Parts: sequence; C-alpha cells; structure tokens
Amino acid sequence: MQSPAVRGAPQWLRGLLSEEFFDSCAAHQSERKNDKNHFCVDCAAALCRHCLPHDASHNILQIWKYASCFVVRVDDLKLFDCTGIQSHTVSDHEVVFLNERTARKRSVASAENPCAACARPLPSAHDYCSIFCKVKHLGENEQGLRRALRGSRKGTAAEAGGKASSCETGRSCGGSLRKRSRKQAEPTRAPLF
Ligand SMILES: [Zn+2]
Ligand SMILES: [Zn+2]
Ligand SMILES: [Zn+2]
Repeated sequence: MQSPAVRGAPQWLRGLLSEEFFDSCAAHQSERKNDKNHFCVDCAAALCRHCLPHDASHNILQIWKYASCFVVRVDDLKLFDCTGIQSHTVSDHEVVFLNERTARKRSVASAENPCAACARPLPSAHDYCSIFCKVKHLGENEQGLRRALRGSRKGTAAEAGGKASSCETGRSCGGSLRKRSRKQAEPTRAPLF
C-alpha cells in the first residue's frame, strides 16, 4: 500500500514494508492460528506457522507486534543496516518498526529532531522512526539505499554467524538503548578549561 515511496528498494524489502502481517494466510484459510507472522526474504512472501518449515536455505524473519505496529528484531534483519532507526527493547531484544508511524502527538519540545522522512519527533541520536522512513529517505538517492543493503545472502553467510554483525556500525544498533536512556542522552556542557 506504500509502494510508490519504496520503488528503489529490492523486491523483498518492498514486500516486507507493504505486507499486511497478522492477516490470515490465503494458503491455510481453514487452519487455526493462520495469521502471517513470518516473512521469507528469498520468496518476498509472508508466511503463517503452517507454511513452516519452509525451505531451509531461505532467510526467514519473524514479525512481531509492538504498540500495534509491525516490528522486526534488529538481529534478525541481516540484509539491511538499521543504523539511525529508532529502536525499542522488547523482551531483551532490540526491535525496529517496519512502517512509518502515524504522528499522533507533535511535541514542540522534541521537534528539533524530526524523522528525516516523515518529520515525526524522535529522541536525539535517531534519524528515522522506521525502516520504511529510512528506505524512503535513502531511496531518493540510489547510492544511499544501496549502502544500507548488506549485499547478497551468500556474502553475509559468514557474517551471520558472528553475533556482533549488526552492531559494528550502528550507534543505535548497539543494543544499549533502553527506555531509560534519557539519563545519558543529555550532553555535558561543561566548559573545557
Ligand atoms: Zn522462501
Ligand atoms: Zn500459511
Ligand atoms: Zn518516519
């Protein structure tokens, strides 16, 4: 439904950002608990639990809901660099929103750091509210989006084994962000004498 803005993105990313997760799976209409809460990157398709096990060589993402929105775990998203996207810690896992979030409250106080794509106010040190907004913003410049994509699955196979793979570049992907990070967010203004 948001396809025009993510035109420059690869098919799997467009699919991920436009899919209506948690709807019932068309292939398993008669089954219980057939909500689509997985996404196959290789097939660019949403899957329900009855679609699994899927092809073992395919890269499957689990989709979660947080604050009524779709989120993915940063650690699961091997092919996209989440640096700069506001993240949240849910059950000890760092997650990011898939889609642009509706700007419910426009807080004047925090508007000095708006999302680069949708202008939603963000905590400092974040550039985007969601994967969608990062893709949309970077998509205005082809090179920019290419840089955020982590190449082919073959190229990342070795990296996938290393647990630090998603942390090396990200100031917001380091897993250190907690809801109570406000304390450390305030820059010290002590003059350097
Ligand atoms: Zn697949
Ligand atoms: Zn299914
Ligand atoms: Zn945004």
